[in-house]
Amino acid sequence: MDFNQIRLGLFLGIFILLLLLENFMQRHPTVDSKPRRLGINLGLTAVNVILLRLIFGGAAVGAAYFASERGWGVLNYLDLPAWLELGAAVMFLDFSIYLQHVLVHMVPFFWRFHVVHHSDLDLDVSSGFRFHPVEILGSMLYKIGLILALGPSPVAVVVFEAILNGMAQFTHSNLPLPEKLDAALRRVFVTPDMHRIHHSVEVRETNSNYGFNFSLWDRMLGTYIEQAKKPQPEIMIGVEAFRRPEQVTFLKLLAMPMKNTAQSYTQSR
Ligand SMILES: [Zn+2]
Ligand SMILES: [Zn+2]
Repeated sequence: MDFNQIRLGLFLGIFILLLLLENFMQRHPTVDSKPRRLGINLGLTAVNVILLRLIFGGAAVGAAYFASERGWGVLNYLDLPAWLELGAAVMFLDFSIYLQHVLVHMVPFFWRFHVVHHSDLDLDVSSGFRFHPVEILGSMLYKIGLILALGPSPVAVVVFEAILNGMAQFTHSNLPLPEKLDAALRRVFVTPDMHRIHHSVEVRETNSNYGFNFSLWDRMLGTYIEQAKKPQPEIMIGVEAFRRPEQVTFLKLLAMPMKNTAQSYTQSR
């Protein structure tokens, strides 16, 4: 088994499990057709996976090998114990993608692509992979740069990607977690209720709760919102410019960056 098989196995296992659970219990009522949204989100995922393979095939882990062979990156200078190095690498990468997420909300050009992620009218396990291919390729370049600067071990990169992949599915899922469990998890991790606030049409709520894995960064940097204005089941999901399913078809998502309809979100920060 190589990294890719493990990654695929984890993805499919978590995806099918959460999809089944969402079938039996839902935190938030839906407004769009689930099969239609699954088709679109998985279609985008397929395009993104193929593009990443063609252009960057294994580049993140490759960059980690490359850096370690040459002694590049902060972690290759420091001689930390393996467990500490792994922890530091995971935290650093998580903080870096938090910053990237803030940036794609603040810079109108980046928001044109990121709005594809926010245009989903419902959230479920598949929303975690709904990104415009250009944003995915940009993220990959950013990640390779981070890895060359940091010099994490290849194992740390694989572990981080596996955590991110699993957490992206969990935090976008429509599962009703008991309140106490949500509160306990949220002390450390991002939960579905916390991330759903980020997908609210309310600008102040969209521009909050940027974290992917750990809730720490939002709490530390003042971008954390505990509760939305509305109760969770009533949060309106999406962005103001795209309220109808026919505005967010597969092809319209690909062409979405051509339209500059979402300025209000980036200017209000
Ligand atoms: Zn966002
Ligand atoms: Zn999201």
